[in-house]
Amino acid sequence: MHLHTQLYSACSFIDAEALIGRAVKAGLDGVVITEHHYQWRVFDLELLRDRSPHPGFIVLPGFEYTTTQGDILVYGLSDSEVHKFKMGRSPEDAVKAAKDLGAVVIAAHPTRAGMGFDDRIFSLPLDAIEIRSGNMKEHEQRLALKIARDGQFRTVAASDAHNIRDVGKYYTEFDYPVQTIADFVEAINQGKFRHS
Ligand SMILES: [Zn+2]
Ligand SMILES: [Zn+2]
Repeated sequence: MHLHTQLYSACSFIDAEALIGRAVKAGLDGVVITEHHYQWRVFDLELLRDRSPHPGFIVLPGFEYTTTQGDILVYGLSDSEVHKFKMGRSPEDAVKAAKDLGAVVIAAHPTRAGMGFDDRIFSLPLDAIEIRSGNMKEHEQRLALKIARDGQFRTVAASDAHNIRDVGKYYTEFDYPVQTIADFVEAINQGKFRHS
C-alpha cells in the first residue's frame, strides 16, 4: 500500500513491469502504487497488469503527498481531484482537504529522521499511521508504535519500496478481498486490516 516506481518517482529504481512479478514472488495479492504527487490512471494500471503474466494480481492507485511537515498517503481520489492538490500545504490543511474529498489518509513513516511529523500529528484526523516501513529504522518504528498508542491511531505496515528487492518487506493484510480502490477505502474506514 506504499511503494514507488521509477516511471513517476525519480527516487525509485523499480521498473513497473518487473514490480508485479516480484510482488507475486513475495506472496502479495496486490499492491497500491503511491508515487510522489502523482496518481497512476486506472487505465494505465490495467494495461500494466494485463501485460504481466499475472492477470489476477491487484494493482491500485494512491499517491504520496509531502506536506510542510511529514508525508501522507492519500487513497480514493479521482485524477482531477489529485491534480487540484497543489504543493506546499501544511499537514492540517492537506489531511483535511483529502478527507473532505472522501479519501482515506495514512501518515507515511511518521517518525523517519528529518521527514517525520511533529506533535501536530496527534490532532490530525488520520485513518492510520505506518508503524513498519522500509524507511523507518527500528527505533523509529518503536516510536511510531508509541505514537499510535498515545494517539489511538490504527496502524499499518508497508515497504515504501524504492528498490525491487524491498517489495513485500512489510505488508498489511485485509480481512476480505480488496479488488478496487473503493474496497480499499472501505476496508481502511472499517478497520478491517492487520499486520505483523
Ligand atoms: Zn515519504
Ligand atoms: Zn514513499
